[in-house]
Amino acid sequence: MARFWNVFTLRNLLVLSLAINVSFMLRLVYVTVDIKREHMMAVDRSQREALPMQGAYLSVSSATSSPSSATFPDGDRDRAINLDHGDPTMYERFWQQEGDKATIVIPGWQSMSYFSDIGNLCWFLEPEFARQVLRLHKIVGNAVTENRHIVVGTGSTQLFQAVLYALASQDSEEPVSVVSAAPYYSSYQAITECLKSGLYKWEGDARSFAKEGRFIELVTSPNNPDGFLRDSVLNRSGGVLVHDFAYYWPQYTPITSPADYDIMLFTVSKTTGHAGMRIGWALVKDREIAKRIVKYIELNSIGVSKDSQLRAAKVLKVVCDSCESSSNTTESLFEFAYQLMVERWQNLRVAVKHSGMFSLPEFSPGFCKFTGRIFEPLPAFAWLKCEEPIEDCESFLRSNKILTRGGRHFGVGPQYVRISLLDRDDNFDLFVERLSSIRKDNLYQHMGE
Ligand code: PMP
Repeated sequence: MARFWNVFTLRNLLVLSLAINVSFMLRLVYVTVDIKREHMMAVDRSQREALPMQGAYLSVSSATSSPSSATFPDGDRDRAINLDHGDPTMYERFWQQEGDKATIVIPGWQSMSYFSDIGNLCWFLEPEFARQVLRLHKIVGNAVTENRHIVVGTGSTQLFQAVLYALASQDSEEPVSVVSAAPYYSSYQAITECLKSGLYKWEGDARSFAKEGRFIELVTSPNNPDGFLRDSVLNRSGGVLVHDFAYYWPQYTPITSPADYDIMLFTVSKTTGHAGMRIGWALVKDREIAKRIVKYIELNSIGVSKDSQLRAAKVLKVVCDSCESSSNTTESLFEFAYQLMVERWQNLRVAVKHSGMFSLPEFSPGFCKFTGRIFEPLPAFAWLKCEEPIEDCESFLRSNKILTRGGRHFGVGPQYVRISLLDRDDNFDLFVERLSSIRKDNLYQHMGE
């Protein structure tokens, strides 16, 4: 042992200790550099994702999410423009500007149970989502929420089906009639008929409905497709009204008073533009009806994605915060969308006037209690009428590579089409330019003759 210590003199030990320390320091520097590089790569990645106009994200996004609305190279001005669906991609720009404000991280162990709030009638409702829904309605003033049950759904599309189930009688021999004033939202008919249910039956235009017995009237206000504010048209007993308020938000129409009806449907799709999140909610007065709506969702999908509800809660929180913020630098979602809709409707009306081959509905201005402004409704869809000699507006526009949804889907004639105004800027601008170029003097060229 003494010999061992002889070999390791004090000087040897000092050199050894120095070497160990240097090696530790080098390792520390290396690890720190590595962590920093990882961090920079992560930031770079997130910045690229926040700017979908560039690089890889664009091709993924445009290939998977919307065939209609990719960003195209400037030369591709002859491309088909698909404005058939109401895909709300115009909102992407707002959320890109918001950066990480609406980002959430969900750890692997979270949201695992089927249950969200077992004490609640709607046991799959995330409490934070419910809180933000109530907060948003209070800020905007578009719906009475007191003494209502909130039921969350996989989009208001699922809620619509759940409401039909809830209002139909299981014991009745006859199916309950389902009606809506034409032009009505095309999916009502498709959804009501798709399962050939014995519980309910699509009977079409409410204005010509004269059958005896129980009925459900769907009241969409503002209306899809024509944008007008609506009331029930069937003023008789035996019916239940379902109010679809997908578009009763201040970017589309003045908020004149809080809606106060028995069954009201809302969706984030048209409120914030997050159609892909698939989240909607119903405000329901009657406890038994609310229970049956919940029952349907239980049978249909055992609840609603918690991840989506948490994300929706965050998105609604950002919207509420931006409305409440007194800072001028924070533009609210509603202001962003309102300004864009004003610009789009102006450009569309100029194009229609220039063309002379089309017409659009005219709206009366109203006072919006939310913004304190007087303005004309700015619907999410243009309900365009083709003038003579064009008979089939959808086919005519298709031959000009503008894809729209024809009047027959909405219970009216083929001279009308519905056109989405919620697409990305480049698609909308090209559409307006193309529409403007169709004129009486060059019509036959546009008819392909
Ligand atoms: N109701 C109306 C009037 C709509 O226009 C839409 C969407 N096009 C829906 C309901 C369905 O919305 P969601 O995406 O929530 O299913």
